[in-house]
Amino acid sequence: MSYVYDTDNIFARILRGEIPNTTVLETDHTLAFRDISPQAPDHVLVIPKGAYVCFDHFASDATDAEIVDFTRTAGEICRLLGVAPSDGDGYRLIANSGRNGVQDVPHYHLHILAGRPLGRMVQPG
Ligand code: 5GP
Repeated sequence: MSYVYDTDNIFARILRGEIPNTTVLETDHTLAFRDISPQAPDHVLVIPKGAYVCFDHFASDATDAEIVDFTRTAGEICRLLGVAPSDGDGYRLIANSGRNGVQDVPHYHLHILAGRPLGRMVQPG
C-alpha cells in the first residue's frame, strides 16, 4: 500500500497554524476542532497530527502511541460534549475515505456528530 500525502490540504494548513480553527481538544498527537459547516448541533473533526491520508493508512502506518492518543481523544470529546450514551443522547462517528466514501479533505479525520437524531446510517443513492 502506498499513499501520497498532499501537504497543502486544508487540514495540514490548519495544523501548521495557517488557517484558524475552533479547537475543542489538543494533545501531543491529535487535534480536534469544530467543523466549519456543521451538519448537526455538535460536529467535531478529530485529526491526527501525522501525515495520514485516510483511516486504513493511519491504522497501518501510525505508531501505537498515535493510535491510542487519537482513540482516547475522540472518546474524551464525546464525554466533554455530554453525548456519551452513559449520560447523554449518543453520537455518530464517520470516517469518509476515498472516492466512494466521498472524502473531500485528504488528511485522515473522524467526524463526531451529535445533538440531534441523526437518521439512518446510509442514505440511498
Ligand atoms: P470529508 O468530506 O473530507 O469527510 O469532510 C471534510 C470536512 O471538513 C467537511 O465537513 C467540511 O465542512 C470540513 N472543512 C473543510 N474546510 C474546513 C476548514 O477550513 N475548517 C474547518 N473547521 N472545517 C473544514
